[in-house]
Order: sequence, then structure tokens, then C-alpha cells
Amino acid sequence: MLTGHCLCGAVQYNSQGPTLFSVICHCRDCQRASGSGGVPVLGVPKTSFSYSGPVKQSSVRGGSGLPAVRNFCSECGSLLFGTPESAPDMVTIYVGSLDDSASFSPTDALFTGQRPPWAKLAAQLVEHAAFPER
Ligand SMILES: [Zn+2]
Ligand SMILES: [Zn+2]
Repeated sequence: MLTGHCLCGAVQYNSQGPTLFSVICHCRDCQRASGSGGVPVLGVPKTSFSYSGPVKQSSVRGGSGLPAVRNFCSECGSLLFGTPESAPDMVTIYVGSLDDSASFSPTDALFTGQRPPWAKLAAQLVEHAAFPER
């Protein structure tokens, strides 16, 4: 069971999992939305996810050409989870908001072509210059 909440506590969420993937996204949109060099993200099935509290959405066209929707607390502004229209069956949780963020174990780094040099991680991850092809 994954649980998390925003900085002020107004928004709570949980997911039964399973975790579908664990990555760090270095795309410029994630950098800008978060104010950091990359965002740790894990994916869960939308059917396993629920939240309560005042969530606001920001929708920006993502790399897929479809809107990438970022959900954040309307009270404190914490970035919490994504609901990408390119993958409507999935929710992407921004790992820093998890109650147990230490259990996150990323495997891949995405959009390393857009990653600033200072944001390279010590962890050995499979690197993708953009979004991985399947
Ligand atoms: Zn909040
Ligand atoms: Zn991104």
C-alpha cells in the first residue's frame, strides 16, 4: 500500500499498487513544474488509486502530443500526481509526496538529453535520451 500527502496535509492519497515502473523524469516540463533537475515518478494503475482533498490540475501538452495533467494541492501547491491522457489507465505519483519515499527504487532515467549536468544521479540507471520506445 502506497500512501502520501501534500505539504499542508489537505490532500491525502493512496494506492494498492502494483508499481508499474519507477523512473526519474528529466524533461524540461518536469523541471519547470517542480523547480528541480528531475522528478522521481512511479506509475500505478488508475483503478488502484484514490485521493481526497482540494486538488487543482494543470494541463500542458506533453511529449506524446496529448495533455500531460499535473495534479497539485490547491492550498499549498505541492505537486502530487500526474494523470497523463497518453496513458489514461495510469496515475503517476511524484515520489517526494509519498509517506515512505525511501522505498522508491528507480530503474531508468528519462529525457537525459534535457537533463542539466548538475542533476546527474549517483545511482546507476538505464538512461533514455527521450521517452523509451517499447
Ligand atoms: Zn496542501
Ligand atoms: Zn517529465
